[in-house]
Parts: sequence; structure tokens; C-alpha cells
Amino acid sequence: MQTPQKSIGYLLHRFARRHWARFTEGICFLLLALFLQRIPALFIGVALDALLLESRAFTLPLLPAGWIPTTTNGQALLTVGVLGAAIIVESASKWYGQLVYEEATLRTLHEIRTTTYDTATSLSMRFHDTSEGGDMLSILNDDVDNLGDLFDGARDGVLYGGDILSAFAFMLLLNWNLALVVAALPLLIVATGRVYAALLEPRFDAIRESVGAMNVRLRDAIEGLDTVKAFTQEARERARVADASTEYKRSKWSAIRLRAVYNRVSWLIAAVGIWGLFLLGGYWIIAGPPLWFTQTLSAGTLLTFIMYTFSFLDPTRRLAVDVINKFESAQASSKRVVSLLQSGDRIEERDDAPDLSVTEGRVEYDGVSFSYPTAEEQTLRDVSFATDSGEFVGVVGSTGAGKSTLMKLLFRFYDPDSGTVRIDGQDVTTVDVESLRDQIGYVSQEPFLFHGTVRENVAYATPEATREDAVTAAKQAGAHEFVRELDDGYETTIGERGATLSGGQRQRIAIARAILPDPPILVFDEATSHVDNETEVDIQRSLHEMSGDKTVFAIAHRLSTVRSADRILVMDDGRLAEEGTHEELLEEDGTYATLWRIQTGEIAVTDETAGRAESGVVE
Ligand code: ADP
Repeated sequence: MQTPQKSIGYLLHRFARRHWARFTEGICFLLLALFLQRIPALFIGVALDALLLESRAFTLPLLPAGWIPTTTNGQALLTVGVLGAAIIVESASKWYGQLVYEEATLRTLHEIRTTTYDTATSLSMRFHDTSEGGDMLSILNDDVDNLGDLFDGARDGVLYGGDILSAFAFMLLLNWNLALVVAALPLLIVATGRVYAALLEPRFDAIRESVGAMNVRLRDAIEGLDTVKAFTQEARERARVADASTEYKRSKWSAIRLRAVYNRVSWLIAAVGIWGLFLLGGYWIIAGPPLWFTQTLSAGTLLTFIMYTFSFLDPTRRLAVDVINKFESAQASSKRVVSLLQSGDRIEERDDAPDLSVTEGRVEYDGVSFSYPTAEEQTLRDVSFATDSGEFVGVVGSTGAGKSTLMKLLFRFYDPDSGTVRIDGQDVTTVDVESLRDQIGYVSQEPFLFHGTVRENVAYATPEATREDAVTAAKQAGAHEFVRELDDGYETTIGERGATLSGGQRQRIAIARAILPDPPILVFDEATSHVDNETEVDIQRSLHEMSGDKTVFAIAHRLSTVRSADRILVMDDGRLAEEGTHEELLEEDGTYATLWRIQTGEIAVTDETAGRAESGVVE
């Protein structure tokens, strides 16, 4: 695991470096503004002494005496002119510096976000299995946003630090004796700020935790609203949400009380500091240097000191609390972003991997074994079979037997632990992954539809397809009839995840989406499980007609779906238990034959048949 500092270093090196010129330009203009901000107080102090009190000559630190006008009018004009110019230039350079810096920050964050997203999508499914979907979203959203704090923190750190240092530089030039006394003030404020931050941390943790718990409660109560209503548990859910909200209120209140105390304490230190400065300065002016001080002090210089002290109090408070907190929050986020960016858990692919060339569509599994990273048992055990060209292959077996997993290895969602998967003699792990997936159409058990129109969803993989192509695919998938009856036909928006459609309708659109690009190999994972028997028979017939010389794998729950398949693979507990046509398998009188008889109602389920069919599907 990276240390937070290393993660930040990595992000700066990889992403911010490209924009260093803009960052530097922004900071330079902001520093210039900061320097100019110090001018008015200095001039006002000098003008007070020289022009109003006439207690000393008009001199400015660092400026040769020859440059200063000798007449009072000239000096007054110089003061007014410099004040006006300083204000205008300060304001312009602050505006420009801010803009340049913000733009560089946004560009850097944009690049971090898009690169992180690219990395996340290129990671193997193994990575996604072991991390929660929500985690990935919060890395791409919240954590990348939090990294903005890194740049804000860096800028504020430079600015607030610059504020304090520039005030001190001028104070040292004006009266280093008094400047050293005033230096105690920011030190005291920083110390209290750190104590406050340390006390605040556990309270913040509690707030974050209670927000998380409240979100889980709210999501459950809202997503499961129909269940809540059906079981008339509204009161209980309401009480749970109220409990979570109370916890949040309690933790937030505790942080607010602490903040109020800190605000008072730090302003008290500041007020006492200014009061002390006025007292000491006043005594000094009237009675000469007290204690061990040697320099003289004028009223104008005291005024400049008071103005500077006011101006650095707030930056000091912010530096001690806000800037450090921003860095801490950015550090935690940068660790998560970098661990994703540097994850080695990706599908390995050679740069010069050749494209998959499908000629016959023969698929061969050779001694394939596989286990999921999170599972203890092997999911596939030594599976071997080979299909002929253009076969329709049924894959059956009890739930959890490994049917879906078997097919996922064909697309390289995962790689086998041992054994080889070949398509037309080419090991799928040696060919270009994109070319592999482009040539396999896939309909998963619960297909995902995107927010958009029916046509956009059907043409998801082939945006260039014409409307006619989409309609043809929809007809073959048995979707045309119901799509035609939707309000806007193919242009109907189907809502997030296809929320406005039934499960069976979603499946049919997903089938149309898979067959539209006309891939030589198709995989249907219980693709018609949500449609009624009659429609299923229709879809099957049309798929059979359309599949022609394609190789089709159909994972089926209802055995009748694959009855006419050229080959049926019977999976049982990760093994390929039987293989053959429907007739051959009935002849064999094994697991398949038993399942068939149960599903057709030829025999009742008894202990014996159930045992033979293992945990077979019983309808
Ligand atoms: P089937 O399609 O035959 O119902 P699957 O291939 O979906 O079976 O699952 C086979 C086994 O692998 C099951 O025990 C299931 O719990 C497990 N499994 C499936 N997907 C994952 C996953 N992403 N991570 C861990 N285990 C999984």
C-alpha cells in the first residue's frame, strides 16, 4: 500500500506536472497581489507620521531617499497615487491568478477522473468482484473531487503563508523589536488550531459514519418501498430512519459546539493580542522603549503594525485548521485513487496481440478449471468439450452448477486457473480482447439497459445501424410487437435501467442488442427466463432460423428450450457431467433424463429422483 505522501507525489508527478507552468503562473500573480496588499497599510502609517503628525521624515523601507518627492504635496500625491495603483493592480492580478490556477486545477482533476475511469473499466472482473460497486462510484466521484482540496490547500497554504510572512517581513523592516513580540500571536493561534483539529477528528469520523448509516437506511427504505408497503412496515422503517437521523444530528451538534468554543477562544487570543499590542505600543511611544527594547516607535508604525496584525489573524486560523484538514482529506482520497490507478489486477494482453479470426466458430474448452477469488471452492473443475461449426449448444444444470461462469471465461471476463479456452484453435488469452468481445454477442441473466430510447438501446454496440436494422433485430428477438405499442415506438425513453419495461421486455431488447451487430458467436444466459412459454417458443424459433452458421450457446432453465439443440452440456457442481443431444442424453438415462422427466411431469419428485438430479431444477 502507498503512503499518503507517496500517493500525492504520484498524482502530482503524473497529472499536475503537465500543467506546472499554469499553476506557477497562477501562484505568481496571487503572490504579487499579496505583496501589493501590504502597501496601503505601510503608506498610511508613513503618511500619518510625516504628513499629519509631522513627527518624522517621509521615508519608505527599501526605497532610496532620492526617489521620494521632497514637498508635502508631492508626498501626499505619491501616497494617494500609490494607494490607488496598488489597489487596482492587486485586484487585477488576484483575479487573473485565481482564474489561471482554478483552470489548471480543473484540467488536472478532469484528467485524473477520466484516467481513473479508464483504468477502472480495464480492470479484470476479479477486481470488481472484490470491491463494492458503491466504492468505485465514490472513488470516481467523491475522492476525485476531494483531490481538488489538495490544490486548494496548496494554493491557500502558499497564500496564507505568504500573507503572514509578508506582513512579518514589513514589520521586521519597520521595527524588528516589536515584530518579534507580535510573532508570539500566530504561534499561539496555530497551537490552539491544532488542538481543535485533534479534538474535531473523532467527531468528524462519527459524522461520516452516521451519514453512511443514514444513507443505507434511506436507500433500503426507498428502494424497497413496495416491500415495506406490502408488509405494512412503514412505521418501523420510519422509526429506523428517525433513529439514523437522530444519530447524525447528535454527532453534528457535538462538532458545532466544539467549533463555537474554538471560534471564541481564537478570537479572544486575537483580541487580547491587539489590546496588548496597543498597550505596549502606546507606552513605548509615550515613555520610550520599555524592557530590553532599543528601537524607537512612531504612532504611524504602531498603526501599520495593528493593521498588519488584523490582516494575518484570519489567515493564521485558516492555515492551522482548514488548510491542514484539506490536506488530510486529500491524502485519504489520493490513497484510494492511486491504489485504483496502480492496481495490477487487469486482464493481461500483449500489445501486439493479434485479432481473433472466427472462421468456423468452433469453441473448445480443454481441461478448464477456475475459482473465483472470493470463493473457497473451485467453480469449474476440469471442463473439456468441443463444439462443431455453427452448432446450437444448450447448457443446462442446477443453479450454481457453473453455467454462467463457464461462459464468462469465453469472453475473458476471467481467465482459467488451468486449461485453455480456444475459438477456432486460437487461445482466447492470446488474442486482442476487444476483437474477442466484438465477435461474441451476449445476453446476461439480468441485462442492463441504459437510460435512453429503445432504438438507442438496441443499437448500443452499433450506433451506426439504421432504423431498419434495429427493427429487424427487434423482430428476430420477439420485441417488435410490444415496442410498436409503446407511446413513441422505438423512440420511447425507457428510463433508468429500463425501469418502465417488464423483465421479459427488457430481455427481448437485450437479445435484439446482441444480435444486431451480427456476431459469429452468441451467448444467451437464461435470456428468455422472464418471458412466457409461448413467446419463448417464438423467440427460440426465430433465433434458430437466424443463427444459421453461428455458434450459439444457450444457458437454459427450462429444458424444453434446448431440446432441439445440436449439443447439450449438462453441468453439475462445476463439472461437465453429460454431453450429447436430447435423445442421446435420454438414452443415457442420467441426470439430464431425470431432470427432463421431472420437468415434463412424467415422474413426481421423490427422494430418489431428487438425489439423482442433485439440486436439479424442479418446476
Ligand atoms: P449457474 O450459472 O450455473 O447458476 P454460476 O456460474 O453463476 O452458476 O455460479 C457458480 C458458482 O460460483 C456459485 O456457487 C456462485 O455462488 C459462484 N459465483 C458466481 N459468481 C461469483 C462471483 N462473482 N464471485 C464469487 N463467486 C461467484
